[in-house]
Order: sequence, then structure tokens, then C-alpha cells
Amino acid sequence: MNLKHRNYIIRGARLISQIFFLILFGNITIIFGFFLGFDALKSASIGIPVPVNQPIGAPYTNAFNIFELIQWEFSHAIFPFLSIGLLCIFGVIFGRGYCGWVCPFGLIQDIMNWLPVHKTVPSKETNQTFNKVKYIFLFISLFVAVWAGYLVMTGVITETNRDLSQFSIFVDIFSAPISPSNTLFSLIPTAIIEAPFTSIGGSVWNIFLAYPWFFFRVIFLLVILLISAYISRFWCRYFCPTGALTGLFNKFRLIYLGRDPGKCVGKKCKICQDACPMGIRILDTPFQRIDSSNCIMCLKCYTACDKNAIKIKIF
Ligand code: SF4
Ligand code: SF4
Ligand code: SF4
Repeated sequence: MNLKHRNYIIRGARLISQIFFLILFGNITIIFGFFLGFDALKSASIGIPVPVNQPIGAPYTNAFNIFELIQWEFSHAIFPFLSIGLLCIFGVIFGRGYCGWVCPFGLIQDIMNWLPVHKTVPSKETNQTFNKVKYIFLFISLFVAVWAGYLVMTGVITETNRDLSQFSIFVDIFSAPISPSNTLFSLIPTAIIEAPFTSIGGSVWNIFLAYPWFFFRVIFLLVILLISAYISRFWCRYFCPTGALTGLFNKFRLIYLGRDPGKCVGKKCKICQDACPMGIRILDTPFQRIDSSNCIMCLKCYTACDKNAIKIKIF
């Protein structure tokens, strides 16, 4: 098989995988709900933790973000032994590779980046500065969860006062209301489903009152999607705490990429680097392993290299 055919197969396989998981996770089930009835669908829901940004609260979903689960468990004074164990197993196998092949919100950003607008390539300095934001977001999310769990144990937060404030959604899972994936796959579908059939119904404006932060969250989602058209994987690069967490495993994941020093012609080429949607400076990484915590294993560098110098490695 020549390189051209191999590359078609890899690109096609990734796109099929992303669409498969978007459907499998139930994100477009809402479309069927209008024909089959929402109640019938709801009874079929089950949930499996996954290492990508599939929101816990999405209606009819059968998978949910393991990082959101970890926060929820901490904030309810439950130590997440099983969730952390599962995260480690996922992480050791494929690191942040699930972002490239499984995450529905990753696919949405990829689709936005297909739009024919002039692409912006952030400088090395911009990448380095904003790269830190997702780790700060990750740390704050875990801190709030652990702190909320402590308040539960000391009796300050109880079942009766837990949901009384507009800020309570930040207490259960701090990252969820800020996550644009949560807005797209959970908040908006929930509002569409519930508004006509409950006391919320009557006027679309009532949605703003019924769902805390609805207006701000939708605007934020639109801004992130718009920027993703110009800067590839904008949310993933700089902000996503789930990606930040799984990326910690990239340095020792079992499936990874490296460069063949006998084939790579180095800085006079850089085609792989220009193709990388995460802005990784591949030529600054060791030949042995592209060890960046941002690598989502999308294989765009692999298919872009016409010297066949990038290798997929296992163990
Ligand atoms: S970094 Fe991107 S692809 Fe990975 S979990 Fe977050 S939104 Fe999904
Ligand atoms: S595209 Fe291939 S040959 Fe060129 S710098 Fe990248 S790995 Fe090396
Ligand atoms: S280094 Fe290669 S596989 Fe990793 S994100 Fe960049 S293009 Fe994708």
C-alpha cells in the first residue's frame, strides 16, 4: 500500500471513529426523541465513564466524563477509588489519544476548523503562556470538589441547602458549567426537551430563568466555536481540564509516536509541525517519543510526513 492510500485510510478511520462515538454516546438521540417520544428513550439510559469531555448531565447519554465523575464523587465526600483507577488504566494505554479519536467535542471543533476562513497560528510564546490555563482550571476544579466534600463531612453543606444558590452548579462539578461541551450536549438539549413539557414552557425566554447561567453559557459556547474555526482545537489546546488530566499520561502511554532519525530531515522541513492541530513543536521533542502532553494522537503529523519518518510505537 502506498503512502497516499494509507493516509486516506487513517483519516477516514479517525473520522468514522469520532462520528461513531458521537452517536454511541447518545448525543444525537434527541433527534429521535421528537419521533419516538422522550420518555421512551430516557428509560434506556445507562452510563459508562470515559476519559473525554462527554458531560455527565447530557440527556439520554450512555457515557460520561470520568473527570466530572471524580469531581462529583469528591464533592459528595466519596473518595473516587474506582474512577481514579479507571482513569489510570485508560491513561496508561492511550494517554490523551482519546481526544483525537473519541471525544465528541473534539469532533465539533474539528468540524468548525473545516470552515474556509483564514487560519491563525498562535506563536510559540502564546502557546506556552495559554497552555498553563488548563492546568490551573484542572487544579481549581479539584480543589473546589475536595473543599465541597470537606464541607459535606462537616455538615455545612447538606442535602437540603445544596441546591439553593445560583452557584450550586459550581459546587457539584465545578468544571461542568464552564465547559462548552456541557452546554452543547447537556444544557441546550435538556432545555429543548424540558421547556415544552414542563411548567417552564410557555415562553422561550423562561429558559433563561429556569437554567442558571443559560445565557452566558450559550454565548461562551458560541465564542469558543467561532475561535475554533480560526485556531484548531482552541478549547483542547488551552482550556480543557479533562485533556489536561489525560495528557499527564502521555509521557508513559503504551501507544505513542516517534521520529526515525535516519529519515527525518529536521528543521528544513517541519511539514509535520505545521500539520499539528495542537501546535506541538514536534522537532523539539526527542526522536524516541513525541512526548508532549498536548498530543492527541490524531496522526496528522504521521500522514503529513512524505518521508515516512514518523512511526507509531507500541510499548
Ligand atoms: S481536550 Fe478536547 S478532545 Fe480532549 S476531552 Fe477536552 S474537549 Fe475533548
Ligand atoms: S515532516 Fe517528516 S521529515 Fe519533515 S520534519 Fe517532520 S518528521 Fe521530519
Ligand atoms: S503530534 Fe502528531 S499526533 Fe500528536 S497532536 Fe500533533 S499532529 Fe496529532
